[in-house]
Amino acid sequence: MTVDSSSFASAIRAFAEQNADWVFFDDATLEEHATDWGRWKFETPGAVARPRGTEDVVALVNYCREQGIPLTPRAHGHSQSGQSTSDGGFVLDIRSMNEIRGIDEATGTVDCDGGVVWRVLCDYTVPRGYVPRVLTNNLAVCVAGTISVAGIGAASFRYGLQADNVTELEVVTGEGEVIVCSREQNRDLFDVVRCGYGQFGIITRAKVMVRPCKPKVRMYHLLYDDLGVFMKDAERIMDPEDDKYHTLESRSAPCPIFTKRIGEGIELAKGMQMYAYWLYPLFLTVEYDEGEDPNDAEFIDGLNYYQNLGVVEYTQLEFLNRLEPVFELWHRANAWDMAHPWMEVIMPWDVAQSYIEFAQENLPPQALGAGGHVLLWPACTVSSDSPLFMHPEGKFNMGWGILPAVPQKFLDQALNSLDMASEMAIGYGGKRYLSGYITFDTPEKWAAHFGDKWDLVCEAKKRWDPSGILAPGFIQYPWEN
Ligand SMILES: Cc1cc2nc3c(=O)[nH]c(=O)nc-3n(C[C@H](O)[C@H](O)[C@H](O)COP(=O)(O)OP(=O)(O)OC[C@H]3O[C@@H](n4cnc5c(N)ncnc54)[C@H](O)[C@@H]3O)c2cc1C
Repeated sequence: MTVDSSSFASAIRAFAEQNADWVFFDDATLEEHATDWGRWKFETPGAVARPRGTEDVVALVNYCREQGIPLTPRAHGHSQSGQSTSDGGFVLDIRSMNEIRGIDEATGTVDCDGGVVWRVLCDYTVPRGYVPRVLTNNLAVCVAGTISVAGIGAASFRYGLQADNVTELEVVTGEGEVIVCSREQNRDLFDVVRCGYGQFGIITRAKVMVRPCKPKVRMYHLLYDDLGVFMKDAERIMDPEDDKYHTLESRSAPCPIFTKRIGEGIELAKGMQMYAYWLYPLFLTVEYDEGEDPNDAEFIDGLNYYQNLGVVEYTQLEFLNRLEPVFELWHRANAWDMAHPWMEVIMPWDVAQSYIEFAQENLPPQALGAGGHVLLWPACTVSSDSPLFMHPEGKFNMGWGILPAVPQKFLDQALNSLDMASEMAIGYGGKRYLSGYITFDTPEKWAAHFGDKWDLVCEAKKRWDPSGILAPGFIQYPWEN
């Protein structure tokens, strides 16, 4: 949906001037919120609100509703297609609401504001002997942001999504109503704000499930050179009857070999590109107490890996921050500031191998750019109860994604290739992970994505945000043009 921002620019300024202590429209603030981690879509908001509490969120929603102003909730802005930007409307930056209210040991939850950064939450819970049941690889994202997206982590094969691991949410709907929802009360709202991309309400507070954790983590680094063998072992590791492993993580790692004929190639060698031999590292962890020495054979015997690369010992907090050296490398290679049109898919287990092998065969390693990588994420679907998280049928699914860092001059070429990989995945029965590079630009494409949940999405929009002010432009509804 395109909006004419000039029609409400003066109304935004008026509200910002009346609420100058929490609504800002200085150039630096607008620029900071004009794109996201994707850095290929740029939209300047009219103003940025940093609410001090739920009452401010209600006041802003009511004003936007009365004036017809778009309002996009934003957490840490790590989406990649402008999901948390606004073209001329308000951006509501939830990070200003960041109180942690404490752990309730009886219910196994920590009560916190939606703007709390997961790393800060871990710094709070781990010294108290608890860890959120599911954490994403990057901890610099917010509770409300990942609950609105899904939040897949190394423990998801056992516990599901971060969106599954909340017991209660406080939400301000598009009507300005404050509703507490859970599996027991107002479930219809609870089920659409989880993985709801800010379309139906703004999450202001959450009760996040935690579990007791041990202070030490041992990680086994195993390497596979055969995707089929890797998948057989992954099925075994993910067996819901076997709770030996705490986390499971993996990726597709290209080992650049030489040149061969792929695609168009380059000027001096038509049809020639670098090609890679693909390896599949698998990382498994167990937790243990100080002074304990886990029996390694118990954890890795019977797995059919190609190489055992050894173990790494971490404290619990070091383990949670294990990706930081990778991110540091991206900074050093200037990859952090490049475009990141990440294309992630969730594939049916039975076709995953043929799709992935074909896609990787045609993926020159240099297309990933400095710091780019290829995601490989076996998942067990039985652990999720978030209806709007779309994934293929079957007990197991495979997440796979091309996560490149692209210099602007190669962006068009990269987007074309990513579009092709995305379309092919959908053709194979895959579902896209919606925080990434998404170009569904018609209601029909959205209907195809949501399948039998499309009616639920449309009805929920009409019910919870009838004025259509919340995060317009991402999901295309049939009544918009
Ligand atoms: C380096 C890196 C590593 C990553 N690793 C993982 C990973 O391991 N697993 C994984 O699942 N994802 C991962 N992601 C993707 C990440 O989880 C998503 O991009 C997610 O959107 C980030 O959350 P955020 O806090 O930045 O939210 P934002 O991007 O700001 O927002 C996400 C969506 O939620 C909406 N929203 C924001 N706040 C609210 C609110 N208060 N109420 C309602 N809706 C709201 C926004 O409008 C937007 O649609 C990674 C991303 C990066 C950049």
